[in-house]
Amino acid sequence: MTVLAIETSCDETGVALMVNGIVRANAVASQVRLHAEYGGVVPELAAREHLRNLLPVARSAIQTAGVAPEQIDLVAATRGPGLPTALLIGLKAAQAMAFALERPFYGVHHHEAHLYSPWLADEPARLDLNRFEPHVSLIVSGGHTLLVHVEAPLRHRLLGSTLDDAAGECFDKTGKLLGLPYPAGPVIDRMAEHGNPRAHHFPRPLLEEPNDDFSFSGLKTAVRYFLRDNPGLIGDETALRNLCASVQAAIVEVLVAKTVRAACRLGVRLVTASGGVACNRALRKALQEACAAHDLKLRLATPAFCTDNAAMVAALALLQAQHGLPPTGPDAEIRPDWSLDEAHA
Ligand code: ATP
Ligand code: MG
Ligand code: FE
Repeated sequence: MTVLAIETSCDETGVALMVNGIVRANAVASQVRLHAEYGGVVPELAAREHLRNLLPVARSAIQTAGVAPEQIDLVAATRGPGLPTALLIGLKAAQAMAFALERPFYGVHHHEAHLYSPWLADEPARLDLNRFEPHVSLIVSGGHTLLVHVEAPLRHRLLGSTLDDAAGECFDKTGKLLGLPYPAGPVIDRMAEHGNPRAHHFPRPLLEEPNDDFSFSGLKTAVRYFLRDNPGLIGDETALRNLCASVQAAIVEVLVAKTVRAACRLGVRLVTASGGVACNRALRKALQEACAAHDLKLRLATPAFCTDNAAMVAALALLQAQHGLPPTGPDAEIRPDWSLDEAHA
């Protein structure tokens, strides 16, 4: 089974080809540099870039995979949630390809696709659910922070999510306050490496609350007040590293503690994580340590599959086809606010 998948929910134009579960191509054109000038993703610019890049990226993926268009058995795209105009480009292009090739089309849920990125293991990457077991999955990106109970392949329940800013948004917004370039997440990751995470104590929002929700906007505000009250620290390299390490420690502690707590409460033996923030080295290390301490297994998506990509879209569409789920209509519309619990409704 050969799947061509497209991802355009935010600022990455992704096209992947998956042949019998193996990722043969996973092309991504990131718009990060374009949006950096504005300090965040500008929806109309994102849509225009998707339109400009989609066909060249698709052509390059098809070439890399060495697949002839008529060998494609199924076409998939992210249907939602995401930026409406961005989703529209990928969805309509995929539906047009499916129509032209006379193949079924699957429009999938972006977060559900993230759930399967930790299962794209090995080299070459292939979808391997042989070791699947019920688990708790943490999805952390610039737009989302979700905890999900995955009971079986294609069966999941949303446990909690952020009430305000996403974890990646918190990295990016505090980074902006610290004068770091967008997206600040990877920069803070590097700066924090030689900083002291205990130099300053920032709030751990909702850490002790008996729910699976998150809140990160207060943390960003705490950093703003801290900088207002300590103007002397601005411009000092050591102070900056300590601040980065301290903010990162607050974000990581909450994410890890709530994920592990949910896993223990539900009695699952496995934790998975994906999304751009799951690239964060301190988060990966803290998850490893906490899971080991609680006798939990951990499956982290590799960095290339953490950030938005089409390989995970292909993986989910393949899974849906294998489980006999019906294709999505060739004229189905985007679902910008699609909730994860309604993914198969
Ligand atoms: P969506 O939320 O819809 O998936 P997105 O574009 O925000 O879209 P990703 O591309 O998965 O999501 O992730 C980008 C986010 O990940 C940014 O906020 C970025 O700062 C953050 N990020 C990337 N690498 C790191 C890192 N090493 N440490 C912390 N944050 C990181
Ligand atoms: Mg992105
Ligand atoms: Fe994403």
